[in-house]
Amino acid sequence: MKFFITLLKNIFFLLIFVSIACTSKHNGKISSPIILVKESTPLYTILVDPNILPLDKGSNIIENSERGVIAYDSIGEQREAINTLLFYVNQISGCNLKVEPFKKNSHGCYIGLTSNYPWNKKNIEHLGEEGFQIGKEGENIFIVADNSLGIRHAVNTILMDQGCRWFFPGKEWEEIPKNQTITLFPSKQIPSFDMGRIIWYGYGTYEKPVSDKLNWDYHNRMGTPVFINIGHTNYDIDFVKDFKLHPEWFALVDGQRTATKLCYSHPEVIERMTQYALKMAKNGASSVSLSPADGRGFCECDLCFGTAQGGEIKKEGGTFFATRPDGVLVCTVSETLFNAINQVANVMAEKYPEVLLGCYGYSSYSHPPSFKLHKNIFVQTTTHYRRTPLNLSEQLELWGSRCNQVGIRGYWSVYQWDWDNPLLDIYLPEIIQKDLKFYHKHNAKAFVTEASNNWGPRGLNYYIGSQLLWNVNVNIKEVIKDFYEKAFGPAAESMERYYSHWYGRGVMVLDTLPSNQNSLLDIKSDFDEFGAYDPKQFLASKSALRDAYKDLDEASKLVADIPKYQKRIDQLRMYIYYLRLRDEVWDTTSTNNVEAKIEAIKKETTFGAKLTNTNMIHTKPLLGNAFMRLFKYYEPILKDIPESQQRESGWRLPIETPPDYAELEQLWEEGKKYFGIE
Ligand SMILES: [Zn+2]
Repeated sequence: MKFFITLLKNIFFLLIFVSIACTSKHNGKISSPIILVKESTPLYTILVDPNILPLDKGSNIIENSERGVIAYDSIGEQREAINTLLFYVNQISGCNLKVEPFKKNSHGCYIGLTSNYPWNKKNIEHLGEEGFQIGKEGENIFIVADNSLGIRHAVNTILMDQGCRWFFPGKEWEEIPKNQTITLFPSKQIPSFDMGRIIWYGYGTYEKPVSDKLNWDYHNRMGTPVFINIGHTNYDIDFVKDFKLHPEWFALVDGQRTATKLCYSHPEVIERMTQYALKMAKNGASSVSLSPADGRGFCECDLCFGTAQGGEIKKEGGTFFATRPDGVLVCTVSETLFNAINQVANVMAEKYPEVLLGCYGYSSYSHPPSFKLHKNIFVQTTTHYRRTPLNLSEQLELWGSRCNQVGIRGYWSVYQWDWDNPLLDIYLPEIIQKDLKFYHKHNAKAFVTEASNNWGPRGLNYYIGSQLLWNVNVNIKEVIKDFYEKAFGPAAESMERYYSHWYGRGVMVLDTLPSNQNSLLDIKSDFDEFGAYDPKQFLASKSALRDAYKDLDEASKLVADIPKYQKRIDQLRMYIYYLRLRDEVWDTTSTNNVEAKIEAIKKETTFGAKLTNTNMIHTKPLLGNAFMRLFKYYEPILKDIPESQQRESGWRLPIETPPDYAELEQLWEEGKKYFGIE
């Protein structure tokens, strides 16, 4: 018996040797897969920086912001990454990896920073803030990064390579395969957007969805190496008190000083901005936002308009343009605002050279200034409502030449635009990829997009988006196919049909359906950043809802014995049932029955409240600030209902527990009758 084992071992090592010998000719590097665990047995010991041990020591979270991601200090980051690897490798293969502190000349799989690398570094390349490299050095494996965040991304990439998925936030959407072998694929990866890949929820959300999202971000390699503050600010200037004391600090609009905006040419305003930035930096901020207050109403005083150098001022799209005598087209708002920010940056750089200054470059100040910005300034521009005569390509090109660090702000979902309705308008996966490639080509280093916690309608987009932000050239057809197959198993085809109702032909990737359905690609709309839109704008038609209902009904039956698939389809059934209740609200517009109208609104809202912890719809604005805008057509009949006056009260309170299977089944049957489905 022992002989046979020895023989098998020898054959095994011979095979390994042959495979190395065969592949090592390629550019002198080994590019064939490396087996880390075989038949649930580790082939290598994991070697780590001794400082991260013991692994069960808690880690220090340094940033836990809704718009950002969980961030640990460097030691904690590595410790959590190793813990993540150990946990999931055990779940996948049943194997307990052995972890030891590395020593000079130890043998194994080193996971850690390049600065602590235990062997000679002949194969290691420059990896940037978040990149990583996986490879072999002689008999040893290395999984390395220049910074600890890269270790996190390496581990999650390795887990995804095994088939692990975190499709949507929440435990229901985590997919962990079973496999006795763990294979590593040698590669070097650096994210396409290496200063930030952020999807954040407008209006915020509740506690469990926040934690679900942080976990989703962690595994999908989202986040940023530097947290850049960019929000609108008043620089501690009081728009009521200071306006009374110093009206000349404020914008001259139509001949009147008004407290809408500041006059960015006034030296005392620039001084206040500087003091504000210094104070924030002194209090420990790693970046300070200098973006103006939201809205229009910028200054028209002689100093501000003086930046036109005598050129004729033209008011266009809420901002001011002029062609200077030297022929350069300038926007007076951009000229004065970014000049002020440059002055702040010069002072800041002397005392706090590491602190970045963030500012939007959009709306009335979309047009890049005529001068170069200080190297510590980060500008975040947007592809919507660009108030500049430049085309998008020219605008991004010019921002890239004016500023060292440019980010793009996106709008993948905004509650008061789409109201959680299922139609995607221009936000189709293929268009998202085209756009991201375009930004990447024009030097954008960060992409930060507003979204809603509405994974019912938008989840597939957000998931595809996360994969594209890491690698803008990823094959999205493969990502979508993988999503159907891994998330829904035997119901993959039904779910492809379900998604094609809302996402169009672009998501039909299983090659099993006729591709003559109508494409949604010709729908276009033009949003205004200050507008709220008609709640009826993207409503699904009754017939589209009926078809979607049928697809989910079929999918649910196909996965009846498999809980992990059933739970995911149940969440989408809850979303479609929510739309069925919304459909009834709009049906009541044709009746005069006030009670029926109020009852329908109450039913939609209460069921929405029950979805609080499912991440399917954006419950926060529904129960909170946007309720009356959503139901604006019913304002006269709602005004005497207490719930309409008080956010998150009565039937507008969030409900922690979603419907269970039995309750959902009951509602589902009722919905089938509603849509006339046999
Ligand atoms: Zn002014």
